[in-house]
Amino acid sequence: MQFESVIGLEIHVQLATASKIFSGAATAYGADPNTQACPVDLGLPGVLPVLNREAVRMALTFGLAIEGEIAPTCRFDRKNYFYPDLPKGYQISQFEQPIVGPGTVAMDSPNGKPRTIGITRAHLEEDAGKSIHDAFAGLTGVDLNRAGTPLLEVVSDPDLRTPEEAAAFFREMHVLVRTLRICDGNLNEGSMRCDANVSVRPVGASELGERTEIKNLNSFRFVERALRHEIERQIDVLESGGRVERETRLYDAERDETRPMRGKELSDDYRYFPDPDLLPVRITQALLDEARAQLPELPWVKRARYAGVLGLSRYAARAIADDPDTAAYFDAAVAAGADARPAANWIMDHVAATLNRQDTDITQCPVSPAQMAQLIGHIEAGTVSNTAAKTVFDALWTEGGDIETIIDAKGLRQMRDTGELARIVARIVDEHPEQVAELRAGKTRLLGFFVGQVMRETRGKADPRQVNALLKEALGAP
Ligand code: ADP
Ligand code: MG
Repeated sequence: MQFESVIGLEIHVQLATASKIFSGAATAYGADPNTQACPVDLGLPGVLPVLNREAVRMALTFGLAIEGEIAPTCRFDRKNYFYPDLPKGYQISQFEQPIVGPGTVAMDSPNGKPRTIGITRAHLEEDAGKSIHDAFAGLTGVDLNRAGTPLLEVVSDPDLRTPEEAAAFFREMHVLVRTLRICDGNLNEGSMRCDANVSVRPVGASELGERTEIKNLNSFRFVERALRHEIERQIDVLESGGRVERETRLYDAERDETRPMRGKELSDDYRYFPDPDLLPVRITQALLDEARAQLPELPWVKRARYAGVLGLSRYAARAIADDPDTAAYFDAAVAAGADARPAANWIMDHVAATLNRQDTDITQCPVSPAQMAQLIGHIEAGTVSNTAAKTVFDALWTEGGDIETIIDAKGLRQMRDTGELARIVARIVDEHPEQVAELRAGKTRLLGFFVGQVMRETRGKADPRQVNALLKEALGAP
C-alpha cells in the first residue's frame, strides 16, 4: 500500500519588541541569567500585566500580510500547566479569540509547483523561561530572562504534504517575518521555533490519519529530517498492523531519530480560562491603519518585480529578495541608477564574498549603494574592467574616498583609445615575425602569446575583448 503524509506546522515567532509583552523588562538576547526578569515575569503576587502595544501592532502587520481575518476584539486566556520555567503556573496565551484568524500564504513547493498554504490562526502569547541542564552538576538551573518575551504562534492548516515542503514553508515564514521586521529571524538564538504535526494515510484516502507532534525544531534542516524519520516510523507501525498513537515526540538531532516525550493523557488538559487581569483588546481602525502603514513590499511581490520588471533570473530574484537587508541595498543601488542585473551579480558575488570574509552584514557595508551604482556605471562605460572594479571596491571598503580618484591613483583606467591600441598591436606583430609565421602556419594557440604581450604593454588596461579582435585582424587569424 502507498502512503502519503500530511503535515501542519505551529511556528513560534519571537516578536522583536524592545520590552516584554506584559512588562517593561528588556527582551535582548544573551544577558546574564535572571537579570532581565522583573516581578511581572517572575509571577510575584500583587503585580499586574500591561499589554505591549507594539506586540499587538506587529501581530496585526502579520495578519494583514497573510490577508488573515482580523478579529475586532481579541482576548487573553490562561493556559495552565506546571513547569519549573513557568513561575506563574500558567502561560498567558490566546485560545478562543486569537488576534488573527484564517489567512493564506502562497509559495513555490520545492518541486516547482505553486502552492497555497492555509493559516488557521495566529495568536499572541508569552514565552516561558529556560531550564539549563548543563550549568550545575546534578542540578537544573532556571533562567527567566526569556519569560514574558512576546511570541506570535502561527498555526498552519494540514496542507503540507512532504518534509521538503514543510521545510520550504518554514523558510517562507522566516523570510516573511524578517521582511515585515517583526522578528530578527535568528534561529540559533531560538527566535523562531516550530512544532511539526504529522500523520500518514493511504494515498487517495480523504480522512486524516492519527497524528503525532514533534516539538521544538529550530532549523529548516531539522524540520525536514525529523519529519522524514517520523513518517517512516508511522508507516512501519501501520504496515506491521499497529496503530499510530497520538503523542508528542522529541527529535534527537545527534541520534537523528524521534522518541516519545509524553502521551495524550498528560498533554491536553490546560484548563484554559480568560485571564481576569487583562481586558479584551479592541482593534481600532487607527491601530489597523498604523499596522498597514508598516507593511513593506511583501516577499512574493518583490520576487515577482525583480524577475519581471527588472529582468533578474528567478534564482537571483529569490536570492536578493529573501534577505530584506540585501533587498534594501539592491533597491537603493537601482534607484541610484545601477543596471539591475550587474547590481544583482555584484551583490551575490563580490559583495557577498567580502561581507563573508569580513564577518559582517550588508547593513554595515562601507561601500554605499550609490557608490555601487557609480562603479557599475564605470564598468558599463568601459572606464574600468570588471576585475579592476573589484580593486576599486576593495579600496573603497578599506580606505573610502572617491571612485574616480581611486581609478586614477591605482592606474586602473581602461584604455579606450582604439587608435593607440591598434598601434601597439601593430608594433607587437612587427616585433615577432617568427611567431607570426608559426601562427599563420596553424599554431593557433600562439594567439594567447600575442594577447599576453599586448596586455603587458598596456599594463592590463586594455579591454581583452578589443585586444583579441584587433589581433585577429592584424594576424589574419581565424
Ligand atoms: P491542537 O489543538 O491539539 O494544537 P490543532 O487542531 O490546533 O491541534 O492542530 C495543530 C496542528 O496540527 C495544526 O498545524 C494542524 O494543521 C495540524 N494537524 C491537525 N490534524 C492533523 C493531522 N491529522 N495530520 C497532520 N497534521 C494535523
Ligand atoms: Mg497546539
